[in-house]
Amino acid sequence: MSQASQAATSQDRRIPVAVLGATGSVGQRFVQLLDGHPWFRVAELTASERSAGKKYREAASWFQETPMPDAAAELEVLPTDPRSKPLASRLLFSALDSSAAAEVEAPYARRGHVVVSNAKSHRMDRDVPLLVPEVNADHLALVGGQSNGPGAILANPNCSTIGLVLALAPLYRTFGLEAVSVVTMQAVSGAGIPGVPSMAILDNLIPHIGGEEDKLETEPLKILGQVAEGGIDYAAIKISAACNRVPVIDGHTECVSVKLSRPASLQEVRQALREFRGEPQALGLPSAPSQPIHLLEESDRPQPRLDRNRDLGMATAIGRLRPCPVFDYKFVLLTHNTLRGAAGGAILVAELALA
Ligand code: NAP
Repeated sequence: MSQASQAATSQDRRIPVAVLGATGSVGQRFVQLLDGHPWFRVAELTASERSAGKKYREAASWFQETPMPDAAAELEVLPTDPRSKPLASRLLFSALDSSAAAEVEAPYARRGHVVVSNAKSHRMDRDVPLLVPEVNADHLALVGGQSNGPGAILANPNCSTIGLVLALAPLYRTFGLEAVSVVTMQAVSGAGIPGVPSMAILDNLIPHIGGEEDKLETEPLKILGQVAEGGIDYAAIKISAACNRVPVIDGHTECVSVKLSRPASLQEVRQALREFRGEPQALGLPSAPSQPIHLLEESDRPQPRLDRNRDLGMATAIGRLRPCPVFDYKFVLLTHNTLRGAAGGAILVAELALA
């Protein structure tokens, strides 16, 4: 069979999906990543009333480094309206602005759709799993008791939370964690499209990102928590976060200090990080990084431009691991915010749920 007909056959079998909020920073990443995905194909795209009715190529200000996929370019953008405009795809990837997400995600789930959401709106709901597939695949059990039936909402955490939790999970499980201090330097693509004005961010740093510190201080406690009757028992870790916007396009960097519950040598900490693997690696999911954590030895890494695309942007790079005179250890981590931290992470959640 020729390569073209092999592709056509596999295309026919792929699950049709919709991307909600397809014109934005994260929506564009979904469109990019789903082009050629072995399990899913983009069938429907939605956005606001401003974009609805236009071809996707006209509606989206495409900011990705690869060309807009032809198939998506020709799709008509649909309104995001579960009441009057039903969608044919059962699986919906939501990259909606959080106020729109708060209005439509639950109605879509009640109509039978499975919504994998990037928005903050339902992340902390008692019956919604907040998933980092390597860390808490067992939290999918919450879906069984969800009030959004017959569909479901699965939430992808905040972009900085995902990288932080990938680093904290092996430490928490191996040594226990009492306290974490994290200072972030977050990319401008995290602020959406058109995002932060160039006059505000060039030659500058903005030491405030609305609502972000609260997310970093609470979401990891749910993700690292245990499934219990009626929800999740949160992990008991004190987290202090300070969040900054910096003039980097993609890639959130975080300086992290951790206080462990029991003493551990530098070698043991190194080993716990390096050997960390999870369910996506065991199942060989298509979007799983071969290693969720890349532990770097160079004294000046990770750096956004050099390290954000490791394992196709799905791995967290950790470097500068060293003792901390205040807590126990400190390190620097870097995660691609729109790949692992948003669209790629959400696709991995859907792959896990399907597997
Ligand atoms: P964005 O660039 O501003 O895109 C927002 C999308 O929502 C656009 O497609 C927009 O459509 C659509 N939209 C806005 N208002 C709407 C409405 N009333 N009804 C229907 N659609 C509406 O934002 P983003 O950065 O991609 O973020 C999307 C979501 O992911 C947010 O909830 C954000 O917090 C979350 N998130 C972002 C990142 C990141 O790194 N950027 C990471 C993790 C999570 P139009 O183009 O038609 O206005």
